[in-house]
Amino acid sequence: MAEIQIKSVAKKFGDYQALHDINLTIADQEFMVLLGASGCGKTTLLRIVAGLETATTGEVWIGGRRVDHLAPKDRGIAMVFQNYAVFPHLTVFENIGFGLRMRKLPNAEVAARVERVAGLMHIDQLLKRYSGELSGGQRQRVAVARALAMEPDVILMDEPLSNLDALLRMEMRAELKGVLAESNTTAIYVTHDQVEAMSMADRISVMHQGKIVQAASPIEVYRNPAAEFVASFIGNPPMNFLPAQSKGDGKWSVAGQVIDGPKTGKPLTFAIRPEDMRPASTGLTATAKVVEPLGAYLLVTCDVGGALFRAVLDSDTPVKPGDRLTLAPQPDRVRWFDPETTLAVA
Ligand code: ATP
Repeated sequence: MAEIQIKSVAKKFGDYQALHDINLTIADQEFMVLLGASGCGKTTLLRIVAGLETATTGEVWIGGRRVDHLAPKDRGIAMVFQNYAVFPHLTVFENIGFGLRMRKLPNAEVAARVERVAGLMHIDQLLKRYSGELSGGQRQRVAVARALAMEPDVILMDEPLSNLDALLRMEMRAELKGVLAESNTTAIYVTHDQVEAMSMADRISVMHQGKIVQAASPIEVYRNPAAEFVASFIGNPPMNFLPAQSKGDGKWSVAGQVIDGPKTGKPLTFAIRPEDMRPASTGLTATAKVVEPLGAYLLVTCDVGGALFRAVLDSDTPVKPGDRLTLAPQPDRVRWFDPETTLAVA
């Protein structure tokens, strides 16, 4: 069992509060992604779990054991970091087997494990090459293979696919997820790539300014964002927001249209994803500004009541810039936020 518990962890660098009171439990064998914009504290949190950074306050537990006073090597984890340290003067084989040799595993066991993980990472043809002769993407795969070869209970990864080209990256993310699921490893994976996060995670922790804003399954984070930040950060094109005025009794005025919503008197923000709008006979009046045929769909950037609004429509929709459209929101996909707190309103 390798459950990871992060309890009230905070981190200050001088006067700068990089992490505020983080509480997060990663279940045994769970694949947890830390997602957020540059500087939100993802790497710092991962480094604290790894033992490469000390928390100012708080505790880290792995598998029921408090580890925040232990050296990284005593925490039962393997790591793959952005600036992966692959030894250039060693061959790929020697690099992948490095940790196993340190553990004094028999040669046959080392060879079997190296060959297996090299196959998984599609670098079995490179085993005899010196790592200094490899491309950045190949070196990155060596670093991942070296971590997997240790068969750790916990693996910590910081942007491990960042140096791969788009196609290989897509292939590797599926492979890596499969390998980790099969090996019953608990994983924390840092990325700022929301597609990678959505596709790989069991749960995503969305971070913003040193806090976890929401920790939930990818579909939950997408469909039911807990705050406006999550709604706008996840999804491309992003969610639309429009101011809404209460007309009483759960009726709301949104860009001149009446829409059903929560029964509260104070002003709210209406939110809808671009793909949840349909051309209809009644709905929001939109003026198309930019029409982008993206093949699979049409992205139409419109003006709705003076606000920017995006709709993803069927690629055959006859629309050109300047056209007036009537767009109806799919009722069960409408979300509401409190503009004061920016939090979701049920
Ligand atoms: P990125 O995606 O760019 O790697 P991140 O979300 O991983 O970003 P962190 O590297 O955790 O962000 O950094 C969080 C904040 O803490 C940043 O504002 C960063 O400048 C600051 N920070 C990180 N390490 C240090 C340090 N050693 N000394 C001072 N400030 C630091």
